[in-house]
Amino acid sequence: MKVTKFGGSSLASAQQLQKVLNIVKSDRERRFIVVSAPGKRDAQDTKVTDALIQYYNHYKNNQDTSADKAWIIQRYRDIATELNVNLSIISTIQKSIESLECLPITNNPYLYDTFLAAGEDNNAKLIAAFFKENDLDAIYLHPSDAGLFVSSEPQNARLLPSSYEHIQKLRQGEQIYVIPGFFGVTMDNNICTFSRGGSDITGSLIAAGIHAELYENFTDVDGIFAAHPGVVNKPHSISELTYKEMRELAYAGFSVLHDEALIPVYRSKIPLVIKNTNNPSHPGTKVTLKHETLDLPVVGISGDDKFVSINISKYLMNREIGFGRKVLQILEELNIRWEHIPTGIDDMSIVLRERELTPEKEERIVDYLQNELHVDDLEIEKELSIIMIVGENMKNHIGITAAATKALSEKNINLEMISQGSSEVSIMFVIKSKEEKAAIQALYSAFF
Ligand code: ASP
Repeated sequence: MKVTKFGGSSLASAQQLQKVLNIVKSDRERRFIVVSAPGKRDAQDTKVTDALIQYYNHYKNNQDTSADKAWIIQRYRDIATELNVNLSIISTIQKSIESLECLPITNNPYLYDTFLAAGEDNNAKLIAAFFKENDLDAIYLHPSDAGLFVSSEPQNARLLPSSYEHIQKLRQGEQIYVIPGFFGVTMDNNICTFSRGGSDITGSLIAAGIHAELYENFTDVDGIFAAHPGVVNKPHSISELTYKEMRELAYAGFSVLHDEALIPVYRSKIPLVIKNTNNPSHPGTKVTLKHETLDLPVVGISGDDKFVSINISKYLMNREIGFGRKVLQILEELNIRWEHIPTGIDDMSIVLRERELTPEKEERIVDYLQNELHVDDLEIEKELSIIMIVGENMKNHIGITAAATKALSEKNINLEMISQGSSEVSIMFVIKSKEEKAAIQALYSAFF
């Protein structure tokens, strides 16, 4: 059994839905279809979810909502008409969209979530009707009937562990279930969404719940590229990736899947494949626990900017017991997350994301380090990028760092810091942001 999730761009138009139908029909194992709301048809278009946010804002502020409702309903109607789906489904969708503005505005922490969830919910109804009319034994399944019970945390729901028992029962059915992504229901029957982009999470939870053999995530690219296509000209798509490698690449700028979506399938040891709705014969990228075939040392190179480094020096720092703890303590007190701590004998750097450091927090840190910890030198370095070279097989190869630093030195790129964890899944370089693009291009040429 496979759980197959389609993202918004795969469901944006009648033409896309026709491709989705063909994909589902081509494999009988595809029995659990999780869908997003219709996405953008082109760069200028609006996602249905974003249109629902506007509808919500107008409703909440007592403004005219007629244009919002009409636009959203028309989006579904256009798709249904072009696909020749019986238009009775449109009156169902129309009622659902219109009924949103009968919900109470005050004392209703789930109002926003209920508006947003309507995008996926109505899309699932439309798609189930379309499948049925095209000879698939398909049925729409609301998350409450699927057993997707979640915590009462609006826009940040978490699955209640007891839900898995309910979801597992779906295995017994024979039909193709079309399940709206992005939301679940609380124990007191309120709609509660995951964070934005959360349909990926639904797919992963269903896959874990039914012990699927595979979780397929269909999007609009041929899998995950070995480097960002905006930086490297036509990078190849990675055929196989481990969950650990995926996490490392996602950390530094690769955002194909929602972060939280990896956890349920990873824990249940279910492989994931990222495929292209517009090119379904392409094998895509398979994400597994362990490499099955690939033995290349490096699978991908990612880079991300907007990092800051707090560089501290103090003579004989290594003799001062508790110094590191005291430095980290001020970060904890200021509620700052740090990312990396490269060290020397008498110096340590704390690398963090720029957004963590407000001017007030920066001032407080400087004051504390100078006047309470009496550091000799202190610098807050900005406009830094990190580059990650990722590959679990690196540990079986010698000379990866040498090849990387050679490629960077040939381009005259200065390495500010280098760090490699003991698991050797990645090597990280900190460089100046203005050199990020050149660094990724040089490393891509060196390894691929
Ligand atoms: N439609 C929701 C969003 O735009 C969820 C999703 O597409 O995964 O965030």
